[in-house]
Amino acid sequence: MVDNIDYPVPEGETERLNKLMGYDILDTAPEKPFDKITQLASTMFDTPVSLVSFVDEKRQWLKSKVGIYMKEIPREISFCAHTICVDEVMVIPDTFEDKRFKQNPLVVNYPEMRFYAGTPLRTSDGFNIGTLSIIDNHPKEFSQNEEMMLQKLGSLVMQEMSLREDAACDYLTKAMNRRTFINLLNKEIKRANRHGAEFCLAILDIDNFKKVNDEHGHLAGDEVLKAMSKLCEHNIRLSDIWCRLGGEEFACMLIGTDAENANKVVNKLRKMVAETKVKTDKGDIGITVSAGICEYKDMEVSELIENADKALYAAKAAGRNQVCISE
Ligand code: GH3
Ligand code: MG
Ligand code: MG
Repeated sequence: MVDNIDYPVPEGETERLNKLMGYDILDTAPEKPFDKITQLASTMFDTPVSLVSFVDEKRQWLKSKVGIYMKEIPREISFCAHTICVDEVMVIPDTFEDKRFKQNPLVVNYPEMRFYAGTPLRTSDGFNIGTLSIIDNHPKEFSQNEEMMLQKLGSLVMQEMSLREDAACDYLTKAMNRRTFINLLNKEIKRANRHGAEFCLAILDIDNFKKVNDEHGHLAGDEVLKAMSKLCEHNIRLSDIWCRLGGEEFACMLIGTDAENANKVVNKLRKMVAETKVKTDKGDIGITVSAGICEYKDMEVSELIENADKALYAAKAAGRNQVCISE
């Protein structure tokens, strides 16, 4: 996290940013469903400006906008950066009367904000990833009823977001899917290059899974995949990212972790999997996993995956149910 920031930061900021990244919505083109909501907001509340915004690490990025010529706003001067720190609608009836905002460049200069109301866009697990907000050049009273209506419009934005989320999930295990994971991996590489932060990629593959299917049937195999994915996802940190790469292969991005610590985490998962029996209609099924780890060091995403894969195959070759680190 950056030093000397002069805006409020909500609790669990790293997890909040990961959650936002997971939607993969930042810097995407305008989309009708969001534009319909901002148009509706401007009409309902009779404000020249309304916005759907997401609050990124250093900026408020505008997904949909009515009546404003900006694509992002530095987080230091963003009103919405404040709104995501409260769990209710934030209303500034007159910015000239508010110590926090009367000197704000968005008040003093373009777009000369006098009135602001914003509702947090809250995920089902409680992270405020953005806002739906309305702005006027005149002071304005905002009734409780209007606050409620703004909140309802905000929940429509989140409904649209969960449709996107479904598209980012694997249908069977509900873990993140490969496409979304690779996107995040690319973003994490950029972040690591900028800030020199460390992270590891681990690839895990269930041992002899073909035999599980052969002996117990494909449906029981599916149950095992679901249980194994859930077990691992629940036993990594919130800031780590779990994904089903495909088939019986999974991956984990361990953020802020070097190879030595990643080895500890992944071995913990390996042991838990080996000690767990999955209850299915075809009886209790036990499995083991092998894993390969590669610590990120100035490389292409393909090289990172290839190295983790090679380490995984070394673990398989050495007898399975073990973890190898790429050197
Ligand atoms: P290894 O230890 O070398 O990884 O052996 P393995 O049997 O796990 O590897 P192999 O690649 O030979 O077989 C993978 C099996 O995973 C074959 C495939 O049927 C099964 N599989 C892949 N996706 C699914 C799925 O969605 N559901 C079920 N039930 N099985 C799956
Ligand atoms: Mg396998
Ligand atoms: Mg495999």
